[in-house]
Amino acid sequence: MLDLAIIGGGPAGLTAGLYATRGGLKDVVMFEMGLPGGQIMNSSEVENYPGIKEVVTGMELMEPWPEQCMRFGLKHEMIQVTRVEKDGDNFKVILAGGKEETAKNVLICTGSTPKRAGFEGEDEFFGKGVSTCATCDGFFYKDKEVAVLGGGDTALEEALYLANICSKVYLIHRREEFRASPNTVERLKNKENIELVLNSSIKKVYGDAMGVSGVLTVNKEGKERDLPVPGIFTFVGMNVNNEVLMQEDGSTLCELNEYGEVIVDLSMKTSVEGLFAAGDIRILAPKQVVCAASDGATAALQAIAREH
Ligand code: FAD
Ligand code: NAP
Repeated sequence: MLDLAIIGGGPAGLTAGLYATRGGLKDVVMFEMGLPGGQIMNSSEVENYPGIKEVVTGMELMEPWPEQCMRFGLKHEMIQVTRVEKDGDNFKVILAGGKEETAKNVLICTGSTPKRAGFEGEDEFFGKGVSTCATCDGFFYKDKEVAVLGGGDTALEEALYLANICSKVYLIHRREEFRASPNTVERLKNKENIELVLNSSIKKVYGDAMGVSGVLTVNKEGKERDLPVPGIFTFVGMNVNNEVLMQEDGSTLCELNEYGEVIVDLSMKTSVEGLFAAGDIRILAPKQVVCAASDGATAALQAIAREH
């Protein structure tokens, strides 16, 4: 029986693992289906984590975190969790392949994943010219023109990153105002090889078996514009990864809000005793690495308090 099962190994899960093991919980396993680090590993620039003196990549930021946690006894199982169920006073953690673990406490920190924008050709060309990761795919378009869709922090930061690799970036956004922070908007506007395509959406992405060959946009007046780019990066927000909470009878393990985010109190406690949620998955999450880490620490301290 585990003292604590942590589902997800992003900043929230890793920090929870550090605090839980260092705080005396003995059997703590972090179930992470990929490499530990979370979605920030896809970011090409991070400058707002406290203590960072220079801009670093997400990978550089997260690289030391797993080693620090493992030093205190955190175990990592690289596997997907299918579902978490109540099992008397404890929990059953069901893993891909059907194996099960039981745990006294469970912390859900499965984070969020990029949304699809919904234009024609998006699914057909996903991975063949349509991407949601500039650090992963940007280099394929070195010295070529690309398009970016979205007006939030992610879209603008990644457009700036791509502008350093690509000859030109078309930033397509459906409004005139940006959701991103003013500092980032300023940097974007000062970047010579970024052209703003505002009040516009994507009608379709087209191409052939080799991949994307262009993007057709349409503005608010209905005027179409053809951008003959081989790559389009979409950054239109995130969906919370709450699937592990879905029960076989269609109910959810704990209370969620209308966006599917887990309802927690200030201790990261959910509506179910012994079940915690931390990071991007919870209500009102600021969706920042530092906040996810803080949530993870808070939840771990609560789990320790329950066991001692
Ligand atoms: P995540 O980082 O999403 O980690 C969740 C983990 O859970 C993932 O590793 C996933 O593989 C795993 N997982 C999910 N489901 C399962 C399952 N069923 N079984 C096993 N494992 C599972 N924040 C900043 O503070 N500064 C920035 O500059 C910044 N830039 C960003 C740039 C980009 C491109 C993006 C996408 C985000 C950025 N953010 C930034 C936001 C930041 O990355 C998130 O707020 C933070 O990573 C949330 O951490 P988390 O631990 O809650 O979740
Ligand atoms: P976001 O803030 O939700 O922005 C999504 C953008 O996509 C918005 O501009 C939105 O337009 C647009 N959009 C949504 N659906 C669309 C569709 N179907 N078609 C076209 N455009 C669409 O998402 P995000 O940029 O990924 O950021 C997520 C969170 O992480 C935010 O809280 C953000 O602050 C944080 N983050 C922070 C940093 C940082 O601190 N440096 C970096 C990255 C992310 P509208 O504006 O018109 O709604």
